[in-house]
Amino acid sequence: MGKKVVTLAYGCQMSERDAGTLTEITRQLGYTSSDELQTADLVIVNTCCVRESAENKILGKIGELKKLKEKNPNLKIAISGCMVQQPGALERLQKRAPHVDIWAGTHNLHDFSVLLERAEQGGKVAEVWQEPKKAIESTPLAEKGKLQANVNIMYGCDNFCSYCIVPHVRGRERSRHPEEIIQEINYLVANGCREVTLLGQNVNSYGKEFSPAYDFADLLRDVDQIPHLLRIRYITSHPKDLSDKLIETVAQGEKLCEHFHLPIQSGSNFILERMNRKYTREYYLSRVERIRRLLPQASLTTDIIVGFPGESEEDFEQTLAMMDSVHYSQAFTFMYSKRSGTLAANMEDQIPLDVKKRRLQRLMSEQNQKSLEWRQQMIGKTYEVLVEGPSKTNPQRLTGRTRGNELVVFSGNPEIIGSLVNVRIVEAGSWTLVGDIERP
Ligand code: SAM
Ligand code: SF4
Repeated sequence: MGKKVVTLAYGCQMSERDAGTLTEITRQLGYTSSDELQTADLVIVNTCCVRESAENKILGKIGELKKLKEKNPNLKIAISGCMVQQPGALERLQKRAPHVDIWAGTHNLHDFSVLLERAEQGGKVAEVWQEPKKAIESTPLAEKGKLQANVNIMYGCDNFCSYCIVPHVRGRERSRHPEEIIQEINYLVANGCREVTLLGQNVNSYGKEFSPAYDFADLLRDVDQIPHLLRIRYITSHPKDLSDKLIETVAQGEKLCEHFHLPIQSGSNFILERMNRKYTREYYLSRVERIRRLLPQASLTTDIIVGFPGESEEDFEQTLAMMDSVHYSQAFTFMYSKRSGTLAANMEDQIPLDVKKRRLQRLMSEQNQKSLEWRQQMIGKTYEVLVEGPSKTNPQRLTGRTRGNELVVFSGNPEIIGSLVNVRIVEAGSWTLVGDIERP
């Protein structure tokens, strides 16, 4: 029997994609991917450190793995990614979790096979480079028949938003060459993939180092030409770099989904400046207006942080007002979490936890209402849906997403999984839509 690996991914899509790379590397070494911790020979935890709550959850999981190792001393445990990469974190983590065999930073994932080999020979291994030393590469992942795939188009971030740990653990921004990206997508499509999500911390600054000039809109236009690919999504768009050219390209593209994830973070200019976001609420609204003018049906989603240092009730009210004016279909809302090494961690006027909690509750309840209204205005209209598979809550029915990324449940023959159908929305639930397929 071959060895089994369980890979656990915490955090954003980039972390998920990295976890996929690690699983693929172990597959090439003869491991089979599994979900069962009890029978695993290797457990990999790819970590996130963007908020303290994520870190606490992961530390709990690493603690649980100790019991597993006591039962099976041959088990190898690897901890990788952002948490390990934080300045000064490795020593602290090693002391706290001596049962871990491999520690790998964000710049050491591609050498994972070497690290694993060393650990299998019986040693403890830790590799955390401060910077990437190799040219950019990506391990292509193609699970046969998997409809959706994430594709890295760039790594790192140069923005240094004052609350954010990402630039400190993922290094400076670097873009992959378009030919390499297109080659990877062609490979995915040949293996059954029909929808790709292009990943970058700020996709709008893709290619800024390229000469001759070639930007994100150019890449989208080229990916749009790939035969048999049905849909293209991307995250994340930093509002400061969202160009007219990009909005126009999305409007003209055939497969480019009319969904903009445009993190606002705060609706107050005072807070936006302290966050180092480099745009104002007025500029943000002008971008939204431009999108709505060219693409009236586009869905907008966002990320919002409440309780950033110095946020007054009035600043918070401005965030609520912004949510009201834009009318997001969905918002990911977070309480500010102090991250050591970031500028905001040393700011005065940190907001007490009870105030942050109260603001988050209010924001979430207002957004839930807005999201419901958004879904309700879809009733009676027909949308193109990519059929993804049986619904998780009712396997007798099918599920899929609109171009705006709204989840729809409907009845249909499982033979249509992987194809595009037109669905008329008949009901808007708290989180999903219910529809009927329209016969051609
Ligand atoms: N690059 C993306 C961007 O510019 O929006 C987002 C990357 S980050 C992994 C995802 C979201 O986490 C951010 O948009 C922000 O809302 C949130 N976030 C980042 N740092 C945070 C912190 N210290 N406390 C709370 N939320 C945070
Ligand atoms: Fe973090 Fe800002 Fe970079 Fe996004 S753009 S990863 S929020 S520093």
